[in-house]
Amino acid sequence: MALEERKNGKSKRVGLATLPTGAITTAYRAVVDLTCGACGHPIQLGELFSRHAPHKGAIHVAPACTRCRPLRVSDAGEGL
Ligand SMILES: [Zn+2]
Repeated sequence: MALEERKNGKSKRVGLATLPTGAITTAYRAVVDLTCGACGHPIQLGELFSRHAPHKGAIHVAPACTRCRPLRVSDAGEGL
């Protein structure tokens, strides 16, 4: 049981990941089947994904699959 594994029902936080743009985001692992909010591609159990706001100021964030937003997960931990 890793301490950083925090369940919120649909996803498990994996840690920080880097996007192709160089931006840092949080990577999640699906614990239920999800659907990418950007392309509609299914995000299956155990797959990595990130979250993105569909538009600026959006309250709800949608899952984004790794095809839309390729993730490079760093195992280095939380520190920057
Ligand atoms: Zn997608």
